[in-house]
Amino acid sequence: MVSVVIVSTLMAMAVGSPDHGLMEMAGYSAERMELARSYHAAVAPTKWVFAIAPIVIYAFIAATGWGGRLGRRLERRLPSPLAVVLVWLLVGLAAWLVLLPMLIYRGFLVEHVYGFSSLTFGEWVLRSFGARLVYIAVAAIPLLLFHLTWTRIKRWWLTASLASGPLIVGGIVLAPLLVDPIFSSFSSLRDGPVRTQAETMANAAGIPDATLLEIDVSARSTRLNAYVTGLWGSSRIVLYDNLIEHLAPGEVAWVLAHEIGHYTRHHLWIGALSAWLITAGALSVFVRVVPGIAYRWRERLKIDSIRSAGAVPLIMTFVAASLFVTQPVAMAISRGIEVNADHYAAMFPGLDRSDGIAAVGRLADFNLGDPDPHPLTHTWFGSHPTLQQRLSVLATEVER
Ligand SMILES: [Zn+2]
Repeated sequence: MVSVVIVSTLMAMAVGSPDHGLMEMAGYSAERMELARSYHAAVAPTKWVFAIAPIVIYAFIAATGWGGRLGRRLERRLPSPLAVVLVWLLVGLAAWLVLLPMLIYRGFLVEHVYGFSSLTFGEWVLRSFGARLVYIAVAAIPLLLFHLTWTRIKRWWLTASLASGPLIVGGIVLAPLLVDPIFSSFSSLRDGPVRTQAETMANAAGIPDATLLEIDVSARSTRLNAYVTGLWGSSRIVLYDNLIEHLAPGEVAWVLAHEIGHYTRHHLWIGALSAWLITAGALSVFVRVVPGIAYRWRERLKIDSIRSAGAVPLIMTFVAASLFVTQPVAMAISRGIEVNADHYAAMFPGLDRSDGIAAVGRLADFNLGDPDPHPLTHTWFGSHPTLQQRLSVLATEVER
């Protein structure tokens, strides 16, 4: 009990009490803030459900022996790697069907009610289905690697931990080249004042060769954003077309400076390194815990070994649980990176920091940023500092 109080107090301190006056001054109107409160009240519970429900569903399928029986049946007819992938697909499909009503609620209904999405239901289904297929194709790789190498190579944990690094880096290199173009169209940042500004800033930051792109989001969404992705040759700074349309030039410049901060300070490498360390940590727990469970409860789970297809639901339970448990760590690292990029932008020569304040406020206004994030939800799912924190940093920099 005492520890719960201490932890929640610490989290509340991490969020701080929001200064709505500061947000309004930054351009986040009181009416939009009111709308944002109801939007986040509608969205926050779904974050927890999508993170926790898969653990429960996979554990249920494993513990009832359904997964084990399905695995045995498939292994009698099929080569075992194929049976492994099939069990994984079917269990994933079961979880997806259970969560489908909530997926439609979160992904389609809420986004429409709050005016973010202009996709028809058919288009939305097609996009979510496509995303699911890509996820299946990518996630099957580590599963098959595990199935093919477990007990066959010495010091499996060490080898797998080392190999996961290049796999993560490879994923970040390839995603913007192979995956992103499936879902959006990208073009070179349009000629005009924004491009000139971006080139001047990239030169000043020492990255004259950086790839500057814009993404066509306006056809499906009203959100404003920008991001950096890729590594090595696939590194790029991407601006939403909406952002260029709706923000003033000074505000776009501040967003650019923030993204240049991510780029020049190698934040994607920091992200990749942390993902690697978290994966290695999870794998070290995996080798100590999961094979033991598989052996001790082999009768109940109806499995012969951890490598059998029937053990896949148990592995899925562990993966979903590790993702949930390590999420606050990953998000804390993300927030640290974002603070760092904000500081970089605040120090960028030639920029007016009041434009930074206006940019943060206008982005919150357009995207319905959460004016009062719940400490627990923010700890678990907040990839950026709170609005209050971002604005305070910029406001104190301005006063100096
Ligand atoms: Zn950022």
